[in-house]
Amino acid sequence: MNVITTVATMETERGRLNGTVALVPTMGYLHEGHLSLVRRALDDNDYVIVSIFVNPTQFGPNEDLSRYPRDLRRDLTLLESSSALGTRHSALVFNPTAEEIYPPGFDDWIEVTGPLTERLEGAHRPGHFRGVTTVCARLFRIIRPHRAYFGQKDAQQLRVVRRMVQEQNIDVEIVPMPTIREPDGLAISSRNVYLTPEEREAALALSRALALTRRLVEEGLTDAEAVRGAVRDAVETPRRRVSAQPLALDYVSVSDEQTIEELETIDRTAVILLAARVGKTRLIDNTIVVPRGARKPPALLALIEADAAALPSA
Ligand code: AMP
Repeated sequence: MNVITTVATMETERGRLNGTVALVPTMGYLHEGHLSLVRRALDDNDYVIVSIFVNPTQFGPNEDLSRYPRDLRRDLTLLESSSALGTRHSALVFNPTAEEIYPPGFDDWIEVTGPLTERLEGAHRPGHFRGVTTVCARLFRIIRPHRAYFGQKDAQQLRVVRRMVQEQNIDVEIVPMPTIREPDGLAISSRNVYLTPEEREAALALSRALALTRRLVEEGLTDAEAVRGAVRDAVETPRRRVSAQPLALDYVSVSDEQTIEELETIDRTAVILLAARVGKTRLIDNTIVVPRGARKPPALLALIEADAAALPSA
């Protein structure tokens, strides 16, 4: 597989591509979630570029940058053997160093301001979204993709990136992709490797809580605070049972699906988001809900149906 490590080579190689170009930005340590994005990108486009870059600017000072899992050889093997990229010549991997992306004197920060980036992940991880939008804007300018694929797993990030490309007038289609889950419902994440078996068991409370709230909303519950309370109960009750495993919620949110602003009444398509710390690991998850009797937005059908199928039954 062609692995490109410098911006200059990437720009040259990009210049040679005639046809539609997709970008799948990742931080590596690839898993089925990433591979689902790659497969879809290959189906939709002539060329796919997978970036593998652990972006230092999106980690806070007390976060896990130095211990974030990295294994390029494993990632390349996975891409080749999973038939995601296979032997196709249409795929490239861009694996730059931090100095390539952030040369000395770098000051070209790209930021989305306002509630969309200030709440939830933005409040708990100051500077995180500035790092995300800066690296995405850099990648979009270097690679000039027609489409870029992002997972609903990082729901707020997806919306922040979409807003950033509007504000910056970057000509790229942002394609949202469903959350891929383990058979028991746990959302797949590179960070899941940190979990001990007991922590992993405790973490299942998150997807179970989301499954429960989906059912409550489908049955007609529209009081957002009642939904938030039900999530907290569902997450905290098993914690009492698995007493050795601390499972601490950072937030539970019932928000407008597009703006990620908190709702009082679920009178439109909403997203239930949560973040929790399990031992030393921080996990996030979410699910989109549509109030009883309302029409499911066609653009979100794939995301909604994937969760309906993959979340555990509540
Ligand atoms: P990361 O390497 O964690 O930065 O993720 C790279 C991309 O993969 C982001 O767009 C994520 O939202 C997406 N992604 C991560 N986990 C999953 C998953 N379980 N299902 C679908 N997409 C995912």
